[in-house]
Amino acid sequence: MMKKLLLFVMMLTALVSCQQSEIQSIKNEEAQVEKSDQVYEYIKSLGFKDDEIKDLGKDYLVDGDMLFDKSVVPDSSKVKNGRVQQYGVSNYVGYNVQPNITVRIDPSMNVYASEIAGAIAIWNSVTNCRVNFTLSTANDANITIYNSDLGSQICGASYTPINGLPSGQVYINNILIANNSFAQRQRTIAHELGHAIGFFHTNWMNTGESRTGTYGNQAYYDAKNILGTPVGTDANSLMNGGECGIGATALSSLDIVAVQFMYPENPPVAGTIPVFRYFSRTTTQDHYYTWIANDLGNGSNNDYIFEGVAFFAYPTQVTGTVPLYRYFHTKPGISLGDHFYTLNQSDVSSDPTYLFEGIAFYVYSQPLNNSVPVHRYWSSSYDDHFYTKNQNEVTGMAGNYSYEDVVFFAH
Ligand SMILES: [Zn+2]
Repeated sequence: MMKKLLLFVMMLTALVSCQQSEIQSIKNEEAQVEKSDQVYEYIKSLGFKDDEIKDLGKDYLVDGDMLFDKSVVPDSSKVKNGRVQQYGVSNYVGYNVQPNITVRIDPSMNVYASEIAGAIAIWNSVTNCRVNFTLSTANDANITIYNSDLGSQICGASYTPINGLPSGQVYINNILIANNSFAQRQRTIAHELGHAIGFFHTNWMNTGESRTGTYGNQAYYDAKNILGTPVGTDANSLMNGGECGIGATALSSLDIVAVQFMYPENPPVAGTIPVFRYFSRTTTQDHYYTWIANDLGNGSNNDYIFEGVAFFAYPTQVTGTVPLYRYFHTKPGISLGDHFYTLNQSDVSSDPTYLFEGIAFYVYSQPLNNSVPVHRYWSSSYDDHFYTKNQNEVTGMAGNYSYEDVVFFAH
């Protein structure tokens, strides 16, 4: 790896005639060498061995289809150990992008344009799902699918979403899938599109993958079971990893549950949107609620972990709704912080330890339009307010939360 890059540096400098820019080029390339080494060490810190890390030139390819950009050094403090039985990542495609995720076919993939169309149709055919892929020739399409020689084992590769956008690149190893059936080639492409919109390998526990990490595009991931799907594996899942050429060629019933849950087309009430719940498990032990996909560190956040859809509320005010205000509460000398949501600004406006952050979303102050109560709980050990419409949830939950009140009504 070092040798190759050094050779590249020498070739580059040989081509540059201006002395000043020659020096600059050397500096840039040296920085590149250092960074790629750091990325390599980072991958190893995730538990991968040298022979599991493939050098693709610009990226490292690890564990089937995880890509790490050599020029982007992930923050190794983000790596946490431990395995749980879950499957999804932490970041998803933003609400406004979901209905029109544009996909460009790089000319290198023209040979499999029919398979790409079929793969798109697999996802688009799911009912009650807001995700919809559209083929596009625009250079700024959300996803571009490239042919890439990923070696003799790997059929495809993708990042996961960041900044509320799907992975910008999907790589397919055309040489490797050439001998597969049409349905299997289509599956490989559909599988990578699944990663691109935020799904992890369903069978990641069996394939020995790391639960958490950071992809080459800086998207942090944390394998998370998607509500409504059982903990464990699903032999029929199109999102099973390591099954190129032999895997499921259609979405399983649980794959469909997962994508419908994450990207519902028809919310319980027209005009509402899913409000995502996050929990800061490493720093503030704080619950946070937002409908904005890139609210938290643009998807590279590794502290606030996605916990699912909390409820449905309105992104803009409609008749009968009121603003729900968000505050951030810290106490001097105490590192814990707490997001606090209220309909009444007078609750805390005179307390300088509550910092006003704005309107979170719009809700009802009474049970209008079939809305249901959202209850507030308090944990003194976590210094955290927790909001849920499901009172059974706190049973057995860490933090010893006690009941406070109904704060608002949502769906
Ligand atoms: Zn995969």
